[in-house]
Order: sequence, then C-alpha cells, then structure tokens
Amino acid sequence: MSSNQPSGDKHVAIDTEENRLKILTAIAGLAPQRRLEPEISKTARLGYHFPSLSELLGCNPGDEIEILESLADLGCLSRQLFQQIDLCPFCLDSDLRLRRLCPSCRSTLIAKKEILHHFRCGWVGLREEAADGTELICPKCHKYMRHIGVDYERAAQSYYCNVCKKIFNHPLEQFLSLTCGRDIPKDGTMIYPIFAYQLTPVGKDVVNRQSFEGIPVQKGIIETEYNLYTRSYVERRLGELVNRYLRYQVGFSIALITVDGFSKWLDEKGHVVASNAIKLLASVLRGETRGVDLPGLYDDHTFIVLLPQTGHKGANVFARRYTERIRQLTTPGLEEPPTVSIAIGGCPDDGEDSDSIMARLTERLERCKLKGNLIIGPDDE
Ligand SMILES: [Zn+2]
Ligand SMILES: [Zn+2]
Ligand SMILES: [Zn+2]
Repeated sequence: MSSNQPSGDKHVAIDTEENRLKILTAIAGLAPQRRLEPEISKTARLGYHFPSLSELLGCNPGDEIEILESLADLGCLSRQLFQQIDLCPFCLDSDLRLRRLCPSCRSTLIAKKEILHHFRCGWVGLREEAADGTELICPKCHKYMRHIGVDYERAAQSYYCNVCKKIFNHPLEQFLSLTCGRDIPKDGTMIYPIFAYQLTPVGKDVVNRQSFEGIPVQKGIIETEYNLYTRSYVERRLGELVNRYLRYQVGFSIALITVDGFSKWLDEKGHVVASNAIKLLASVLRGETRGVDLPGLYDDHTFIVLLPQTGHKGANVFARRYTERIRQLTTPGLEEPPTVSIAIGGCPDDGEDSDSIMARLTERLERCKLKGNLIIGPDDE
C-alpha cells in the first residue's frame, strides 16, 4: 500500500539504443504520415499502448512508451496530444473504477428510485408505492395512471441506500484504485497526457544513417515543470566552477536542500499534492536566488543551488532566508507548513573536485535529514 514508483519491480532496461533505432525505423515505414497513435489496452499501466511496437520489442504492453518518450526528448519524434487520462495519485496506475456511494454511510448498496407525479390529484411519491403488478395505481386517489405525459410524469430520480435507508438525490461519486485499493475523490486524480508520435526531420536523419551519432544525448537545461535547472546541467556547471577554482583560486558555495515531509505526503496525500508542494517550494527557491545563482532539481524532492559568488557565511544567510520564507507558506492540501533540511558546503572547504565536494555534501544532508528542519554547514562540524 505504500507509494511505489510506477511499474517499479522487475524492470528490465528496454530503453536501449538498439530498441530506439528499431522503433524509429518502424515509425519511418508508416506511410504516409509516419505517425503512430496509441490504442486502448486493458493491461498497460496507462491504459494505452502501441501494439505494433510492443510486439516488435517483445515487451509488456505500454513499456514501449518509455522509449517513445526518450525519442521525443531527443527530438527524433514529436508529441501530439491524443488523450488525457486519470491516474491514481498514489500508485500512478490508470486502473480506476468509478463508484457511486451513499453520502451518509458510504455504502455502494444503493438503488435508483423513480419519483412519480399524478396530475389528477397531485400525488408525488415513489414509483414502487404506486406499482401494482405491471400497472400503476395512484396511492392517493386510487385511479390508474396509464399514460406518461398525460396522466402522470416522472418528477425526479432519487437514490435509496439499502444499508442506512436514507434517500438522496446525488450519490457520492469517487474512484476506487484497483491497484492500490485507495478511494480517490472524483477531482483528486492526476491528469496525465497520452501522446501520438510522429517522425521529425531529425528522426528521419537518424533512420537514414541508422545511427544516433551527432544527436545530443543529454537532456535539456531546464526542468520545465519546476522551472529549475536540470541536474545534469548543474553538474556540468559545478565542474566549470571547480576548474575556475583550480585556475584562479575563486571559491564558491553549494546548498543541497531536501524537502522533509515528501515521502509522508506521498503516502498520505498522493502524488498530486506532493508534487504540487515541491513545485511551490521550487518557485520560492527561484525567487530567493540571484541571477548568478543556479537553482536546480537534484532528485524528486531535493534541490541543489550553486552559489558562485557566495562564501559559506553568505550561503548560511541564504539558507536561513529560504527556511524562513517557506515557514510562512500555505501549501494546498497540507495542514502544516513544509520544512526543509539544508546542507551547505563548497569549494575548497569540502574538496577540490566535484565528486569529493558532492560526497561531503550528501553525507552532511543525510545527517540533517535525521532531525529534519535543520541547516548544517562546514562550520557546524
Ligand atoms: Zn392520484
Ligand atoms: Zn447509507
Ligand atoms: Zn492507486
């Protein structure tokens, strides 16, 4: 029941260069548009798959989407929005079943009841009170009600709960996640896009040459959903700052910031609330950094900030200011203001190469996380 990564367990790496090439070549052969649309699948996690491709690769239905996404990131395919689906915000599975429940006792044992109106005498009541075999007899004036629209009308529809016996107009509608068993409010699902994919000129070139050579492999610079730099970009820039230090003896600072409550939020509130909270904290982080600073996303709930012109005193001030700002934050879906653990470090205090600096910083962050809501820098050791 705890939060799992999507389709986590026995995952075989299928996103290989060989498979990417196979898929691109297959799509290039699709006349005339070189475009592939998904089809409904009962077994795929997202409820959609590309059967020709999963057959081609011999993978589970839907697993081929990972490769299509990589190819789209590389610019070999373009994405065209095809459908939007609802995912369980906890297990990220699309296997949701809509259920109608009694609003008072939450039982599913409810029945629709019809309410009739007899024009002649004005009687309004349950159809079953008037039913006499196949005929309808008004319980008030005891006349037959024969013709709908002439003698009587359907006034309304109500529901009756067989457990608590209440009558109500609107049942409570919510989803049951068949994968994790949780109840999800109707508007609490995670909306997720399903794409069709089309070959781009870049992809066509790869197919012609049967090689990815010359296509930039690294992902972009900005993690668009968070508006932060990507980890790979920050790491590259970290390498440059280390080189600058080695050449000119100009030091710099780094802050590694982890959001304390993240796994608890995932468990208790689901992915939508948790990732929205991270996005909010990311936007506050961007607001607190200056133009020369580089705020990046380190993992799904950890930020990294390069502070090229800041010593660790200044980095400490930055960390305190950020902590103070988020203490005043109201985060949708969370009762308590979020807290963060921050490890501060830098060059040359923590080493003179990226790996040692990051190792010291990560170790420091682990100690922060034990207590939570804490800032530790090199001076605190
Ligand atoms: Zn009547
Ligand atoms: Zn009930
Ligand atoms: Zn679920």
